[in-house]
Amino acid sequence: KDAINPADIDEYSKKHYPLCMRNLHETLRANHHLKHYGRLIYGLFLKAIGLKYEQFIEFWRSEFTKTMDTDAFNKNHLYNFNHQFGKVGKRVNYSPYSCMKIIMSNVGAGDAHCCPFRHFDVGRLRAKISECGAPSEGVSEIMQLVNNGHYQIACTKYFQYTHPQPSSNTINHPNQYFEESMNLVK
Ligand code: SF4
Repeated sequence: KDAINPADIDEYSKKHYPLCMRNLHETLRANHHLKHYGRLIYGLFLKAIGLKYEQFIEFWRSEFTKTMDTDAFNKNHLYNFNHQFGKVGKRVNYSPYSCMKIIMSNVGAGDAHCCPFRHFDVGRLRAKISECGAPSEGVSEIMQLVNNGHYQIACTKYFQYTHPQPSSNTINHPNQYFEESMNLVK
């Protein structure tokens, strides 16, 4: 797998991330924090797109230490990020979350982990997909699919409307979305 340059993550998030990960990334950049499942789901996604261990820790540390000092980060968060990466504890190589797992997640107030097609309210979703570049006919088509509960097909349509070519398969994993999107620029 090609190495990921952490300096490019903001750009990737705009061009190649599915909405679920874009929402997590934008929330992290805005709040310099994510709640537990946000950290876990976004962290496993980042590992799977190819962030190396040192880059992974530095990514989280640089954002979290905008609101806490390095000692507090090391004390309160480092172990969990190491664990997530499989470096401590049982050293499990955790799989990144699939769409189904994210769609079925409990999303409470203040949680940024979610499938926007499933969990955003209609007005917020409409505004977001339009802001992210879906043309107005695409927005209507996507909202119709959402209305009928076809969240992954809506995501697949969103990909189609925001890329020069459709994805080759229905989107069923955020990392599949990312890889298909990256492949189109190669
Ligand atoms: Fe993310 Fe999957 Fe929802 Fe698309 S359908 S936004 S990839 S969880």
